[in-house]
Amino acid sequence: MKNIVLIVALLASCLASCSSHTYTHARAHEVESPSAMPAATKHPARNVILMIGDGMGAEHVWAAWLCNQGKLNITSLPVTGFSITTSASHTITDSAAGGTAIACGCKTRNGQVGVDTHGVPVDSLAVQMQRVGKATGIVVTKSVTDATPAAFYAHVKRRKDTPAIAEALVGAGFDVVAGGGAADFSTEQKERLQKNCRLLELVADGECPPASQRGTWLPQMVAKALCVLEQDEQGFFLMVEGSKIDVSAHVKDLPETVRETLDFDQAVGVVLQWMRKHPDTLLVVTADHQTGGLSILGGDKEKGTVKGHFSTFDHSGVAVPVYACGAGAGVFAGVQENAGLAAKIRAAAAVRP
Ligand SMILES: [Zn+2]
Repeated sequence: MKNIVLIVALLASCLASCSSHTYTHARAHEVESPSAMPAATKHPARNVILMIGDGMGAEHVWAAWLCNQGKLNITSLPVTGFSITTSASHTITDSAAGGTAIACGCKTRNGQVGVDTHGVPVDSLAVQMQRVGKATGIVVTKSVTDATPAAFYAHVKRRKDTPAIAEALVGAGFDVVAGGGAADFSTEQKERLQKNCRLLELVADGECPPASQRGTWLPQMVAKALCVLEQDEQGFFLMVEGSKIDVSAHVKDLPETVRETLDFDQAVGVVLQWMRKHPDTLLVVTADHQTGGLSILGGDKEKGTVKGHFSTFDHSGVAVPVYACGAGAGVFAGVQENAGLAAKIRAAAAVRP
């Protein structure tokens, strides 16, 4: 009996250490100076940029912070808070319910996109912004039909109802659509999408490649999207998703999780630089949930090293960070429900539901 207990204990400690990894990031990127950060002004925001790190908990941010030698654009933002991620059906949300809460201001059941708990469609921020004449866009690194972006334009009871989601995107009236998922559209749908968009980039049949192979695609695409959207007289709403932070954390890949988070941070840097000339803009950076139950066990910010441990292959139930700067940003401080973010964004932009 004693031997069995010993073997079980040994196995458990082996499994635990198998999930612990150390990663050293070779080259840190420069970040925007905190003193150059746009202040949290009170004026209505003409432009709103919502950046969602899928699965990006505080732990993912701090792992990236260590690896980038103790600096990030994200952690330089002047307003910080937390977002409670529970869904209407589960303590641990999925991306469908998490995306819907952020996009539509409505808690729903896991698996559902853009509908309430009864399956009734709810308007997203993107639609509300379009109603007041603002341009809209989405830039993501997984498929543009994936649950998080879909919450901004589709209404389906099953997140895997890709044909319905694809057709909804074709008719969504977005000015910018960029990401993967080309295979989710027929040739005819792609032609209609091309006609409706000012900038359409479907760069992969499925997901975009991982950060280690993607180069600077995301930061560059964000810059390109801003170039298109800034021409709109009424302002714009842009949703950017660092979609694959989640993917890497699901498979407990610490190096790739860090690289995805650093890539997302560089996209935040592009926005901050752009905001210097466009201060009438609100930037909100948050996540839909935490993935992998990551914890930080050690590291060295001088060397750009982190030691981390993933406790699950799934999402975890912790609240996730919210960072904000610019017009109306002050209201995002403190602890809030994920479904409360949309109303705050609307209020900051003086847009009615
Ligand atoms: Zn997610």
